[in-house]
Amino acid sequence: MIGGGQLARMTHEAGIPLGIRFKLLSDTPQDSAAQVVSEVVLGDYRDLDTLRDFARGCDVITFDHEHVPTEHLRALEADGIPVRPGPDALVHAQDKGVMRAKLDAIGVPCPRHRIVADPRDVAAFAAELERGGPEGPSGKGGGGRRAGGFPVVLKTVRGGYDGKGVWVVDNEAEAEAPFKAGVPVLAEEKVDFVRELAANVVRSPHGQAVAYPVVESRQVDGVCDTVIAPAPDLDETLALQAEEMALRIAKELDVVGHLAVELFHTRDGRVLVNELAMRPHNSGHWTQDGAITSQFANHVRAVLDLPLGDPRPRAKWTVMVNVLGGDYPDMYSAYLHCMARDPQLKIHMYGKDVKPGRKVGHVNTYGDDLDDVLERARHAAGYLRGTITE
Ligand code: ADP
Repeated sequence: MIGGGQLARMTHEAGIPLGIRFKLLSDTPQDSAAQVVSEVVLGDYRDLDTLRDFARGCDVITFDHEHVPTEHLRALEADGIPVRPGPDALVHAQDKGVMRAKLDAIGVPCPRHRIVADPRDVAAFAAELERGGPEGPSGKGGGGRRAGGFPVVLKTVRGGYDGKGVWVVDNEAEAEAPFKAGVPVLAEEKVDFVRELAANVVRSPHGQAVAYPVVESRQVDGVCDTVIAPAPDLDETLALQAEEMALRIAKELDVVGHLAVELFHTRDGRVLVNELAMRPHNSGHWTQDGAITSQFANHVRAVLDLPLGDPRPRAKWTVMVNVLGGDYPDMYSAYLHCMARDPQLKIHMYGKDVKPGRKVGHVNTYGDDLDDVLERARHAAGYLRGTITE
């Protein structure tokens, strides 16, 4: 696996019962997965020679992030190393412009959008939105639109994560910043959504695929905070539509492994695709304790072209809350209280140094009563962070 973050750490964990030898390319020995994997190569994933050295002796390569240059992955494939997901699939998770163009081509509903050249062009795009264009499958425009078609969402097509690389601008003057990075900029209508959902699926090279129930994902300051599985009060037809859409995207893009399709649930009752991630994803962490087969176990199976495991939930409700770093560097002292208070609580910590706002772990709770399950997860995450003290 390329990338030493918590996703690699938890994928490695899922491979242990299967006796899989797991080799890691990591930036530093302190990275979350590098602390626990026995075979670690330290190096830069942007360097082709490093990648080639690392790949030697691997049966298959997969990723904990989508930042490996597409052309390097093509070179590894040309060397005869199976890369899963392959570069032609992964490019859709790397480049938001490529992703939007492909989803348009296969008729998947997205926010209206186009690549923009400069702030003036952003204003022109906003004016198009106001007139009801540019044509796109999303149909009706977003809410809260002010004069001139603004606000508009601008995104650098590559390199964004956790809301970095996303701007909401109210006028032409505010639209300068995104162009400074020298990366193409995608403009989108600001979708009037009531919540964010995620449809997670896993697909194997054989073409077998499984779909997890659609979840609700709540963000705080652009970072995923809470995931509720399944999404409460989601119309069954819409849930099925979202699952089918994710399965279709996986097939059309020839995805291998876990695919997270981040969705907007619009005020007028539709689902639009926000973005794609082709690796285990934060919106699937609940599956570790809440599904028969976790996203990590299924990612491993898919990458090795083994039959996929049952994605169905084990409990009526499962809630995941991320644990962010707070003011206390030692979170372990909080275990005593959290574990004693809730024997069913599942804690997953990533071994990272605690820094304010950094994702350092998550907790999962499950049960029949959603309010209770939510309260327990929130309490534990807050207590571990230090924002709740009793
Ligand atoms: P990242 O690459 O950082 O995950 P996203 O494209 O997911 O970037 O955007 C981050 C957040 O910004 C989303 O979770 C959503 O809350 C908001 N956002 C992104 N695109 C739009 C849009 N077109 N309309 C409204 N909000 C958006």
